[in-house]
Amino acid sequence: MEGNAVPDLQPKRIAAFIEPFRVEPGRRVRLPRDFDPTGTRKQSKAEAKEILAAGVELLAEYQTRLAAQDTYGLLVVLQAMDAAGKDGTIRHVMSGVNPQGVQVSSFKVPSSEDLDHDYLWRYAKKLPERGNIGIFNRSYYEEVLVVRVHPQILAAQKLPPSSKRGDVWKRRFREINDWEHYLTDQGFRIVKLFLNLSKEEQRRRFLSRIDEPEKNWKFSANDAKERAYWDDYQKAFGDVLSNTSTEWAPWYVIPADDKPFARVPAAGVLAHTLIEIDPGYPKVSAEARDALEAAKLELEAQAPPGAAPDPIEVERAEKVARKKAAGPKAEKRTRKGKNS
Ligand code: AMP
Ligand code: MG
Repeated sequence: MEGNAVPDLQPKRIAAFIEPFRVEPGRRVRLPRDFDPTGTRKQSKAEAKEILAAGVELLAEYQTRLAAQDTYGLLVVLQAMDAAGKDGTIRHVMSGVNPQGVQVSSFKVPSSEDLDHDYLWRYAKKLPERGNIGIFNRSYYEEVLVVRVHPQILAAQKLPPSSKRGDVWKRRFREINDWEHYLTDQGFRIVKLFLNLSKEEQRRRFLSRIDEPEKNWKFSANDAKERAYWDDYQKAFGDVLSNTSTEWAPWYVIPADDKPFARVPAAGVLAHTLIEIDPGYPKVSAEARDALEAAKLELEAQAPPGAAPDPIEVERAEKVARKKAAGPKAEKRTRKGKNS
């Protein structure tokens, strides 16, 4: 039946769908024990594609409103082990949005200029503007992940002795939570996605990057070296999830072994967050309305001979007439297919 083919993307359904992936603030998380990277797939591949397409459309609509309102911004943080699919997730989930409203920032090894500043400095510079969506492909969370797994990176950060005493990571968790709270107060919503890959699936994807020549560029010898620290990373990720999933900036753990399926909750989380922001088109003041009316009269007066004073009004009236003539069934169909 036609009705079943249209995915139901009611805000409540989206909220319920993504809830199992959210890390409850304060929950102790251990990986891989607490989250299954293979996930339990409830949709067929075709259904997953369809839901993703509908989610992408929803994102585009909300992004337009976010930009028009120009009050709130959205920061999406993506973290994962190598080959978990961060780039593909960005490509697919953001495929429908206006590129002018999205900034993707990828964070690599810090430069010497970066190291001459506090550790949040280089990330702060890339925060999204109001009305925009910022995506961090890796983020300040590397400061409690790769920096924790490799103590020599911390040693190279030129920190005063006082910042290296005591529990560095507890302190950084608190600083990150505070920073995210501050940003939220300023109108920037933050959602964090951890693409949860299994060790065996990473091995498989590395091999495909080696065996398939067109994928060779994606693989570096360093990736294999980092893999040797798998257990340390799992522990560090578990600690990050346990300490930095907050009411204001929650973590979502997305099962990443199954690529097409992983993109569905990722899109769902973004859609949910934008729905919660619920950006509206700005209200036009009475004065601005008067100015619009005055401009309209002027433009109508400029109509060349034979042209309608306002062709838009004519088109609109024609559309309504066409719909009426086609009957109520067709009207319902066009309503379903709107937003395109
Ligand atoms: P990729 O994203 O695969 O191109 O790799 C980027 C590399 O930069 C990874 O090996 C990260 O571990 C590394 N990296 C990212 N952020 C930091 C950081 N804050 N400190 C040290 N290394 C980092
Ligand atoms: Mg890499």
